Amino acid sequence: MSDLDPDLETSTAIDERVEATQFRVELDDVETALTRLDDGTYGTCQVCGTAIDDEVLTQRPQARVCDEHSA
Ligand SMILES: [Zn+2]
Repeated sequence: MSDLDPDLETSTAIDERVEATQFRVELDDVETALTRLDDGTYGTCQVCGTAIDDEVLTQRPQARVCDEHSA
């Protein structure tokens, strides 16, 4: 059993780990953005493929979905 199992992590120690988890999620977003930059899908919505507004990308460079799908 891996200690990186997300289900196990969140169900056993959510209070102590919530800050670390939030940080990890943000880091994950950035890493995903970098990967998408590499494969040429950066700046497009993961759901519908529409180009994400420059305004959104300026505020959230790690944005993965367009306005319509980000709510
Ligand atoms: Zn979309």
